[in-house]
Amino acid sequence: MGGSDEPGADVPCGFSAAHYEQNLRRALDKGYRFPTFAELADQPDGAGVKPSCLLRHDVDVSLKWARRLATIEVKLGVRSTFFIRLRANGYNALARSSMAVLWELATRGFEIGLHAEPQEGTGLRQQLVAEREILQMAVGREIAGLAIHRPKLNGELADDLWRRAGFRYEAGEQRFNSGRNFASDSNYLWKPECFCRLLERGENVYACVHPVWYWSKPESAGKILSKLRAE
Ligand SMILES: [Zn+2]
Ligand SMILES: [Zn+2]
Repeated sequence: MGGSDEPGADVPCGFSAAHYEQNLRRALDKGYRFPTFAELADQPDGAGVKPSCLLRHDVDVSLKWARRLATIEVKLGVRSTFFIRLRANGYNALARSSMAVLWELATRGFEIGLHAEPQEGTGLRQQLVAEREILQMAVGREIAGLAIHRPKLNGELADDLWRRAGFRYEAGEQRFNSGRNFASDSNYLWKPECFCRLLERGENVYACVHPVWYWSKPESAGKILSKLRAE
């Protein structure tokens, strides 16, 4: 695949856009497929002939980084699912500039989902119904699923609740985990290990990737994390 895969051009594991891009390139070389969540929800591939990598992007901080990550994926022909917040302090998904980004992502074949953070006590189902409609309006197409922002804080939503609110899937469901190895870079730390290792081993992967980290220095990552925790 050209110069970047020559031994001398090896990018060390860590939070850099170059490492992220290299991981995707190597996965493509191995024949990986990149389904979106809605595709898998509609048509489970089980243990397919070829390995697949489910890429989940939680847009916690800003659409600016989401767009940059998407640019890398577009260049390589990889697709993923971006989960968008409607209650973030840091960005407004309904701002004109945000809607332009969301529209662009959807047009390029990315799936958009809701990064939900329900407020206890006030008609949870109604909140989800309303937020789904708002995001649909912003994106201009159907929103099939949701992923919960900071699940420890925001709790888990009963299965029938999100279904009754019109969603077809919740990204934490077992069906997305079964037969896949999960890795997440929440808190600027890959757990249990960077998804590059899972891809190297040819495993089926579910990687939760937060766009912001790939352009953040460790010092700024600490600040971003404490801001997010204070929201
Ligand atoms: Zn890595
Ligand atoms: Zn989140």
